[in-house]
Formats: sequence, structure tokens, C-alpha cells
Amino acid sequence: MIVENIDRIYRSIAEICSRCGRNPEEIELVAISKTWGTDKIVEALKGGILHFGENYVQELESKRKLLVQHPIKWHFIGHLQTNKAKYIAKYIHLVHSVDNARIAEELQKRAMNAGREIDLLIEVHTTNEPSKSGVDPKEVVNLVKKIASLSHLRVRGLMTMGPFSEDPEDSRPSFRQLAGLKEMILREGIEQVTMQHLSMGMSHDYPIAIEEGATILRIGSAIFGERSKQNFEPITR
Ligand SMILES: *Cc1c(COP(=O)(O)O)cnc(C)c1O
Repeated sequence: MIVENIDRIYRSIAEICSRCGRNPEEIELVAISKTWGTDKIVEALKGGILHFGENYVQELESKRKLLVQHPIKWHFIGHLQTNKAKYIAKYIHLVHSVDNARIAEELQKRAMNAGREIDLLIEVHTTNEPSKSGVDPKEVVNLVKKIASLSHLRVRGLMTMGPFSEDPEDSRPSFRQLAGLKEMILREGIEQVTMQHLSMGMSHDYPIAIEEGATILRIGSAIFGERSKQNFEPITR
């Protein structure tokens, strides 16, 4: 099932790209494996996916340890607490969810300790929904400038989530706004900042995200099925 789902999504990405004149190779599919067990991740690996995303540090850590023999690139997409940054600093491929200077400073410290640079995206709040995380669009440039001055962090782009809605079209204004912010930051010409990525689009609205310029899609349920419960119990420290 998982392999078929992945095939279907890759075909759909290719179709949408040819329709809107984009190169599918500039789009990375990140499988959001939160709540699912490592057996499902191994299945997705067989489907050709190497990028996986998780939203809890402890769950990510447990899975990473069980899957060290696989060449997985791990993405962190959840709310990152400062006291958890140290666990992921050594290996994380991309942190999608940096939305304040404090967490950036903690990541900088941990990246220095780990002797590596950490790539990150700034999460932007593009809906009016109060529950969503992300920096206010008006504050994005300031935050990017602050993080650009930190030696071991590299801002690689922006991330957002569309509104809670059944209708994928409702996500378009959010995605368009994110693309506009990326262009604005590019025009600022901030040194040390490569605004390459737009991480936007989930299972229900990724076609719209591709049309609006997404370079990273975060897809969970369309690959693994509906999340009804926690299928994976992380080892507690
Ligand atoms: C869970 C999650 C996703 C994936 O959602 P699906 O609807 O299952 O594709 C993407 N992004 C974030 C930030 C998430 O928390």
C-alpha cells in the first residue's frame, strides 16, 4: 500500500509540474512519519523515499536509533523546545519550524558543540488562526537578519501551514503569501542567506502548493494512511 501511495504521489507531482511548467526535480517529497512505526518507514524507504519528517524530538530520536543502518535524512517539523535542541543538533537534515530568535540561538549553540552547520527554515504564520505557530509575516525579515548573523546556522527558506479546511483552495492565499515573502527576502540580499526553499503543502493541499512554488512537500496521511492513534511508542528516557 505505502509503495503504491508513493508512486501515485510521484506521478501526480510530475503531472502537476508539467501542467504548470515546473521541473519535478526541484521538488522534494518529505514523508511525515509521525505516529507510525519503523516498519512503515522501512516500507516507504522501499518506495524510494529518503526524507522523513517528525514533530516530536523523543519520537524522532527513538526511530533514528532503530533505523541508523538506513541513509535517512531526518526533518524536524514540530514545535522545538529549547531543552530538546541538543538531541537533534548532531544529525538533523533540516529544521522547518524556527519561529523565534531564542530557539535559533539555542540551535546555534548546539550546532557549534556538534561541530556542524544546521540548515533551517523560518516557519511563518500565514493564517488568522490563533492556534498556529510561526512568526508574524511582518517580523520575518528581522528574524532572518538575526539568524543570518549566527555562524553555524543557515537559513534555507520558509515554511508554512495552510488553514484547517477541507477545501485545498483555501490554502492558496497562505502559499502565495509565503512565496511573496521569499521574494522580498531575496530582494533584501542578506548575506549568508540562501532563500531556496518553500516548505508548504500537505496531503490535501500539495497540488496547490506546487502551483504556488513549493520546493518541499510534507506529506503524511496520503502515504501512510489516516492517523487514528499513536502506533509508535518511543522509548522514554
Ligand atoms: C502532520 C503534519 C504534516 C502532514 O500532514 P498530512 O495531512 O498527514 O499530510 C505536514 N506538516 C506538518 C507541520 C505536520 O504537523
